[in-house]
Order: sequence, then structure tokens, then C-alpha cells
Amino acid sequence: MDQFRVEHGELLVGGIPLTRLAARVGSTPFYAYDRQLLDARVGELRAALPTAVKLHYAIKANPMPALVGHMAGLVDGLDVASAGELAVALDTGMSPHDISFAGPGKRVEELRQAVAAGVLINAESPSEIEALAAVAESTGWTPRIALRVNPDFELKSSGMRMGGGPKQFGIDAEQIPAVIQRTETLGLHIEGFHLFAGSQNLQAEAIVEAQRNCFDLARRLADHVSTPIRMLNLGGGIGIPYFPGNERVDLAPIGANLARIADEAATVFPQAELCIELGRFLVGEAGIYVCRVLDRKESRGQVFLVTDGGLHHHLSASGNFGQVIRKNYPVAIGNRMSDTELELANVVGPLCTPLDILGDRMLLPKARPGDLVVVYQSGAYGATASPQRFLGHPAVTEVLV
Ligand SMILES: *Cc1c(COP(=O)(O)O)cnc(C)c1O
Repeated sequence: MDQFRVEHGELLVGGIPLTRLAARVGSTPFYAYDRQLLDARVGELRAALPTAVKLHYAIKANPMPALVGHMAGLVDGLDVASAGELAVALDTGMSPHDISFAGPGKRVEELRQAVAAGVLINAESPSEIEALAAVAESTGWTPRIALRVNPDFELKSSGMRMGGGPKQFGIDAEQIPAVIQRTETLGLHIEGFHLFAGSQNLQAEAIVEAQRNCFDLARRLADHVSTPIRMLNLGGGIGIPYFPGNERVDLAPIGANLARIADEAATVFPQAELCIELGRFLVGEAGIYVCRVLDRKESRGQVFLVTDGGLHHHLSASGNFGQVIRKNYPVAIGNRMSDTELELANVVGPLCTPLDILGDRMLLPKARPGDLVVVYQSGAYGATASPQRFLGHPAVTEVLV
């Protein structure tokens, strides 16, 4: 992966050679996130996007507080999916005006916390509106509400579909007019709409089409709202390459399309703030997972590198987080980047399950116990998306360098 430099045969993370960083961290396994790569990614995106479109970070992709704090200084808003994430977002100092809270099944206590904080709540069902009205009634505080819409179309070629058809996310577009009416009857205002069609999309044309469809749908739905639209969140879903044949998404057509949308929005929603929300794309390529080879063994002609890390820290690299057919994440031996003697090896973790695979028959430099295995593309959906208690091994460390 070309985003990390190599010097004297070692991978550099935040400018630090990997073995030195491992010594600084003090133990393996760990995740390391590179600040410069986070900055570069946001810069690249800003260069492609029109300035009228705000950029939000969806923190569930990586909620490490130091990383969220860093991102808060780069983006225009933070999106959270629980009261736990809300606390992390508020601690960064980001204005509550620019924090939004989405997710099905928000508990009444969470809604109360969000109303008290003054963040925008993306309501996901008619009963959430009723619950918000009850919170408003009992506290006297005005909830800030947007409606999350389950669109009447699907995002093409998305790794994970989160809109279209029957879904637990959002309110079906057909139901929105009635929900708007009910919300206004309850004396509450609707600030705008949130549309999120899916995740891990590598096709720029599909993202362009989805954002266009989302905008057109929002225009139609806005006719039913009696107050000006102030917030329009068009989702995101831009993916990153993980597997052979995957290519980085071309941002130019996405930026050009959003510029056209922003021009139209300036006329039809003159008071609206337009934003997109991204998780994986912002942080995924800036992070690596590092574990140490504990044992090297052979079984019936195949080499097995047994490491101290595995699926309990990195479920997605093991292929068990949304993959249908298991494919290898990009892997390297981080302290042997210039070795030329390669072999086919399996990289496995210490868990007593055949699912604990980080690399299935990969061509790698010949590794020995003590060497550092690196899994790239690990900045998103890593530590907090993994079953860390499974088998009782130590928790993973995270560093931002
Ligand atoms: C998960 C999620 C995101 C982030 O998705 P990525 O694919 O990581 O960019 C954004 N918005 C909502 C509502 C989400 O649930």
C-alpha cells in the first residue's frame, strides 16, 4: 500500500520506523493511525468538493477519542450513533450545532441526552418523534429534529446496503409526509432530511447517482414541511480498496455532481446547510494493525505464522464482518519490507477457531518469531468492531502518531 513510506526495510508510521514504534507502544498487538494521512485524506476530499458542501465524520468508523479529537479539527461536523459516541463527540469541543445523532432504537435516555446537548437528532421512526415530543414536554427544551429517510431506491454496487426496500433504518419515503404532519401537529419543527443509502461503494457513478436521487427525493419531501429546510445530509458511502482489483474512487465526478446539487440547493433551499458524512473513507487507509509472530510452523507442506493478534481485535480482516467470501486484506511483514526472499504463508491468530485467519496463503517475506505483521486498511471498523473478550486475550492498544 503506497500511503506508507518505507525506510531501511521498515515501514514508517507517522515518520517512525515500525520496530521503534512497537517499542514505544510497549506491547503488541496495536493499531496505529497516522495523523499526516488523515490530514492528507481530508485535504484531498476538500479539494474535490465544493465549499458549500460540509464534511462530517461518522465516528462509528473509529471512535478512538484522540483520533476523533484530531478529526474534529479537520471536518465541519461529527455524526454519532449512540450516547456513548455523543459523549466522545462533545468532548472534542465540536459545536453541538454540528453534531448529529442517527441510528435505530435510540433509548429515551439517549434522546434526552441528545436534546439536552442540543445536537441534531435524525429520527428513524414515528415513535421516536413521539418520544421526542414527550422529552420536549417534560423538559421544556426544543429538540432539533431531522428525518432520516429510507429512500425508494437502492444504492448500486454498495458493499453494505442501508437504504431502499424494507429496512430498519430511517422512515420509508412514502411515510414521510404523514410523519411531517404529525411532527408539526406536536409543535415540533423539522430542520431537514438525512439520507444514507449504503457503505463501502467503489463506483463513483453509483455514488453520483445516489446523491442525485437523494437530493431529488429531499426536494419532493421538502414540499410537505412548512418551515425552511436548514439541514440536508446526503450521506456518503465512499469506499476504500481492500482487495486485488479494487481501485481508489475517483473523487472528481462526485465533487462535480455535488457542485451542481449545491447550486440547485442555493435556489430551492437557500437556508439549508448541505453535508455529506463519511467514516471509512476518511480514516480507513490511515490505520494499520500490528501484531507479532509468536510461532512459525509447517503443516502438510504449508507455512503457518501464528501471531499474537487475530479476529478478536480485527474481525473485518479475518473476513467475518460482512464479507460473503473471505478475501485477504493487504498484509506485510513490517520489519522486512525490502526482503526479496518470499514464500507462501498463512497468517493466523492465537484463537482456537479456524475462523482466526489474517492471511490465507499470501506471498510474504520469510518471517520468523518476533517479526511484525502489518494489516493495512485497518483505520476503520477495527478495534471497536471486534469481539475483544473472545478467548480472554489482552485488549488491543491504539495509538495516534
Ligand atoms: C455507518 C454510517 C456511516 C459511515 O459509513 P462509512 O461507510 O464508514 O463511510 C455514515 N452514516 C451513517 C448513518 C452510518 O450508519
